[in-house]
Amino acid sequence: MLPTRILTKQTPQIATKSILRANCFGSFIKMLPPLSDTFPDLIRSKFSSAVDAGSLTFTPSTEIDVPAGDLTFRVRVAPNLAQKPVPTREETAAPKPKFNPFLNPEPDLFLCDLGDRYSLILNKFSIVPYHFLCITKEFEPQRAPLSEEDLSATWECLQANVESGSRLLAFYNCGELSGASQEHKHVQFIPVPHDLRLLPDVALSYGIPVSKDAIGQFPTSHPGVAFAHFVLPVPKNPSTDDLVMRFSSLLARTLTTLREHGQRTISFNFAMTKDWMFVAPRGQESYGGVSVNATGMVGLLLAKSEEQLDFIKNTGPLEVTARVGLPRITEDEQQHDY
Ligand code: AMP
Repeated sequence: MLPTRILTKQTPQIATKSILRANCFGSFIKMLPPLSDTFPDLIRSKFSSAVDAGSLTFTPSTEIDVPAGDLTFRVRVAPNLAQKPVPTREETAAPKPKFNPFLNPEPDLFLCDLGDRYSLILNKFSIVPYHFLCITKEFEPQRAPLSEEDLSATWECLQANVESGSRLLAFYNCGELSGASQEHKHVQFIPVPHDLRLLPDVALSYGIPVSKDAIGQFPTSHPGVAFAHFVLPVPKNPSTDDLVMRFSSLLARTLTTLREHGQRTISFNFAMTKDWMFVAPRGQESYGGVSVNATGMVGLLLAKSEEQLDFIKNTGPLEVTARVGLPRITEDEQQHDY
């Protein structure tokens, strides 16, 4: 069943209804084949061979936990990332057209196809081992929300057990303020230690009021976090409809928040594990020089220098994330009809 009344009494500046319909319910979706049982072995061997061949740059980092109330932000410090090559005078004078690395992925980074529409590839510039991407074979814009088939592909990838002691975190940076650097549609995956409780894990531990959760699609938020974010649990063995309904519910609230704050462009972060989905609208790409993407919004920040680490510690990770997110709006302002 499709949600027919999603928006508010006011005329939306952002055409939420049509976005939800076009992206989530637009077409008939074929079931995707599951990933092979050998995928974890494949990713481990491909990762090693790509590093050995020099096709994959792995940047070592250290991790520091910064507590914030009942949350812990794990900050990865990778100073070598800051040392980008400086363009020559000729390169600056005649900039090349933007290269799309996902149209013809490098063979050393290619893992496998997923159905007819997706390929899985290793991240060429990894800080976390076995970081991989699910890219569309044809160009599709990263500024579009996830479609039904994208959600299905994401779910299939999340089943892979790439590293013992870890679960996979999927994330999607959508829109120009979301921390995305590539315009071709890609959902990313990194292993995260099982014992690390991310913001959505803690938010869900507060529970969802039973009266509001009649159909399992009323999002919750962490009460101590100032930025707008929406979390829903994912049931065991979800159908594609289960995934779509949950994503639609989170996206509708995100679009409403963007509109209430007068945002002119649609930027948000999506993150997902086998247990939950999370979406947070974005108002800024970085704060104090610290760029934040979906991983940062759920509790995994990246510092590209000791100065950035100090900035995060002194400012507080909740303040950094609040500055790049958008303030929460009240349920009354949300005016949802479903
Ligand atoms: P985002 O910055 O969120 O758009 O994610 C894009 C990801 O693609 C980054 O993690 C990059 O490291 C990665 N990337 C960039 N170029 C390539 C490439 N040629 N092959 C594979 N991954 C790449």
